[in-house]
Amino acid sequence: MLKKFIPFAYAKSIFDVDYENLRKQGVTTLFFDLDNTIISYDEHIIEGERLKLLEALNQTFKVLIISNSKIKRVSNAVEHTGLPYVHFATKPLKRGFKKGLKKVQSKRSEVAVIGDQLMTDCFGANRMKFKAILVYPVVKKSDHKYTRFNRKLERFVIKKIMKKYPKLYEERLKAYVES
Ligand SMILES: [Mg+2]
Repeated sequence: MLKKFIPFAYAKSIFDVDYENLRKQGVTTLFFDLDNTIISYDEHIIEGERLKLLEALNQTFKVLIISNSKIKRVSNAVEHTGLPYVHFATKPLKRGFKKGLKKVQSKRSEVAVIGDQLMTDCFGANRMKFKAILVYPVVKKSDHKYTRFNRKLERFVIKKIMKKYPKLYEERLKAYVES
């Protein structure tokens, strides 16, 4: 159970993910969380360098945005990019991920999820047998109430992981915790 929260890898931001390595691992499809992974809660639209990165990645991967937020926020942020998206995904439940899979027509083994939360993005991705890439939140302080609750759980889970799997903690979570 505890292992389901451990990411495949950690990266400081979406710009620091080792996409080349993911490709070598057979990943063809990238599912990006939106809030605090690509944009902060105070931002409303994907633009600038972040848009350029997603567009570049979309040349070699299938890119999809998967968010637990409501349709208005997600469509407003993503629609102009032309990228497919899933709103109200209810991560870590499987239904949103399954919807995403259908949209991009990929196999589970080909998908990596990039997100800032252990309790929703990583846990959900691992439940689906996707590769989970944990990134540091864009702005940690602006986390919503519900997210703050998840962050508490996250700290609890990370402590458990540290005790039970010290090596995996060292490799994949330590930099996240100490950021
Ligand atoms: Mg997020």
